[in-house]
Amino acid sequence: TEEKSLNFLEEIIENDLQAGKYKKIITRFPPEPNGYLHMGHAKSICLNFGLANKYGGYTNLRFDDTNPVTEETEYVESIKNDVKWLGFQWENELYASDYFSQLYEFALKLIDKGLAYVDDSTSEEIAAQKGTPTQPGKDSPFRNRTIEENKKLFLEMKEGKYRDGEKVLRAKVDMGHINMHMRDPIIYRIKHAHHHRTGDAWCIYPMYDFAHGQSDAIENITHSVCTLEFIPHRELYDWFIKNLDIYPSHQYEFARLNMTYTVMSKRKLLQLVNEKYVAGWDDPRMPTLSAVRRRGYTPESIREFCEKIGVAKRENLIDVGLLEFCVREHLNKISLRRMVVFEPVKVVITNYPEGKTEMLHGEENPEDPNAGSREIPFSREIYIEAEDFMENPPKKYFRLAPGQMVRLKSAYIIKCENVIKDANGNVKELHCTYIPESRSGSDTSGINVKGTLHWVSVQHAVAIETRLYDRLFKVEDLSQAEGDFKDYINPDSLQVLPAVYAEPAILQAKIEDRYQFLRKGYFCLDPDSTPGKLIFNRTVTLRDMWAK
Ligand code: ATP
Ligand code: MG
Ligand code: MG
Repeated sequence: TEEKSLNFLEEIIENDLQAGKYKKIITRFPPEPNGYLHMGHAKSICLNFGLANKYGGYTNLRFDDTNPVTEETEYVESIKNDVKWLGFQWENELYASDYFSQLYEFALKLIDKGLAYVDDSTSEEIAAQKGTPTQPGKDSPFRNRTIEENKKLFLEMKEGKYRDGEKVLRAKVDMGHINMHMRDPIIYRIKHAHHHRTGDAWCIYPMYDFAHGQSDAIENITHSVCTLEFIPHRELYDWFIKNLDIYPSHQYEFARLNMTYTVMSKRKLLQLVNEKYVAGWDDPRMPTLSAVRRRGYTPESIREFCEKIGVAKRENLIDVGLLEFCVREHLNKISLRRMVVFEPVKVVITNYPEGKTEMLHGEENPEDPNAGSREIPFSREIYIEAEDFMENPPKKYFRLAPGQMVRLKSAYIIKCENVIKDANGNVKELHCTYIPESRSGSDTSGINVKGTLHWVSVQHAVAIETRLYDRLFKVEDLSQAEGDFKDYINPDSLQVLPAVYAEPAILQAKIEDRYQFLRKGYFCLDPDSTPGKLIFNRTVTLRDMWAK
């Protein structure tokens, strides 16, 4: 077997461990509970939990809930479900909001050291003070307030004496710094808003940069892994740790996952939900974990996908076909086989006794010897797929045609004797004969046929609904598409077939059960199903139908 080379984070960690820098490594997955997790988060989860598992450490699940306005408990629950579903277990369930008192103390410590000040400037004034990447900023007129005055004002901010936006607390770094993030960043703002966990206890909230690194330090996170856009924040991350003299967590950056034909941002996904382009966060066309799960993807295949794409240091665009490949490979191994006819044409087997039903046997899953077999009823009238018959076939057509023979899967060889048409000349039914000695498993007919068709006994057929999905967007790379991303939505991404015909073993299906419908694709039972009406989502086709 090929030895897999280490990714750059594994190299860093192995060096750190060898140098004795840490006894064990601690990572964290830090979602903001303002939406459902998507495939990009899956990559971050696999990476963070994967590193800790590999090197014998652990991972915290930390909700980055410092913005009271957008966060909701519904999202917290869905995030926990999704992480567990992916197959990972966190060591501690934590909330940045649990650290609000500690973070407040940290802010006081900076004030005490003369490294933070209360600023009365408006947000426009502060933006103007910042300067530009090529021009230094200028000091705020409030920059030289005394430590005592800053302490008093900050306390008053906390006690609710001021309105939203009236004052902020800023770190006193350097308005001429080459890194714009170091030009006296805001670290606390006033927001009179209800928080999903702390309620109305606070009306000042720490900014992301003041909460994230300090939370890492409080938890003794050794390797804090985030996406590339945080590279310019790292200097500030280190500045707070140094000046607060707290545990020296380190930030490392990797390239976010971008995938073809979809968007991967909670903000955009929320728009699709709110503006009803999709039925909800778990609409099977969405790239969220709850959606791909509903669609029938397995956690194993998503982990395999994340492993295959690796960890890059530069932005890239991953072909969604690779994900589908991983899903197909896994489903081929685990899914039960069923026969389902989508567009039926009736076949009457004229030499088969009327009223007789025979129970045949088909493998549940040829890839799994322990899966056993299922019973399939056979009778005089069956459905085959309309596209499996041609009246005037070309040479080398191995499906059914006048005078031609095919095998019915797990059943008999039949021969087409007669084509019955309606008044308009359309094929109404096919009259065939069967070869009684050709039964699968005990075939003594000596006849070899090339084509094998799926079929369903008419009398035993169960009508089910299927939902077929196509790409949600029409363009491959949405980051290059001009204008509103919603202009590129594929209007034909969902096709509902209200009634297709399945063999009766389909009635055993439970929610989320996964099947291969022979020659049709992989399907998964949808939670919208009722006992009287089973609904199946097509997870993925059997082969890549979107060849480039
Ligand atoms: P979004 O832009 O979709 O809201 P986010 O980064 O704001 O994403 P968070 O909830 O803050 O979402 O993300 C939690 C973790 O997941 C962070 O460490 C973040 O870097 C990581 N993450 C988010 N999106 C991706 C992605 N596309 N690829 C890899 N990691 C990601
Ligand atoms: Mg974020
Ligand atoms: Mg975001």
